[in-house]
Amino acid sequence: MKIAVDGPAGAGKSTIARLVAEKLGLRYLDTGAMYRALTLEALRRGTDTSDEDAIMRVATSIDLNIVFQAGKGNVIFLGGEDVTGLIRQPDVTAQVSVVASHKKVREFIVALQDQIGKQGSVVMDGRDIGTVVMPDADWKIFLQASVEERARRRQAEFERRGVEVDFDELQEQIRMRDHLDSTRDNSPLRKAQDAVEIDTTSLTIAEVVDEVLGLIRGEGEHVQDSGGNP
Ligand code: C5P
Repeated sequence: MKIAVDGPAGAGKSTIARLVAEKLGLRYLDTGAMYRALTLEALRRGTDTSDEDAIMRVATSIDLNIVFQAGKGNVIFLGGEDVTGLIRQPDVTAQVSVVASHKKVREFIVALQDQIGKQGSVVMDGRDIGTVVMPDADWKIFLQASVEERARRRQAEFERRGVEVDFDELQEQIRMRDHLDSTRDNSPLRKAQDAVEIDTTSLTIAEVVDEVLGLIRGEGEHVQDSGGNP
């Protein structure tokens, strides 16, 4: 079974996708983490993130390893170092959409995701999973939420880590990332035609997970017209 979860930054994709994967006993892949790990390494090497060929040299020379741990989600290793926390740092977040906008970079990363998809049942979350990476997914979910609510969630996340951030600045960053991700030439953030959209603005995590599981178990709207869903 293949499940694609797409949507803009902060709509709840990673949390929901991980919990759905755990409930169904499937593997989970956070595709954003791949672009983030590449961005982290590029920044460490002082690479210009707008230079596609330079970023490709970084992409083809890193040793990226993603391990799925129940209860923890994806643990990301770069050359053997656990960078799971580091890839969420503001400097990486500020540059990742530039790195992810390059055509060759996307082709390279999507090929890796494709291999993971071909290894069997999986839940993947990202921006282009239902449209490009797994257009044949059995289930496609597109999560949405207002910019204000997404900024609130990010702020709460930072506060839990003891980091104080400016709310207006967070909203601005989210708007900017939405803009970059949805206007880029190469596989922009877009809802697949056959995806089910869920607005998570006023829903709890548990409510969204229940809604997704309900869909998959056939208690709700069906994503596709035909094709072997349980
Ligand atoms: O999901 P997350 O916010 O961690 O993704 C970080 C960035 O990686 C996104 O803003 C987007 O630029 C890029 N991304 C992408 N395609 C994906 C996943 C993430 O372009 N499938």
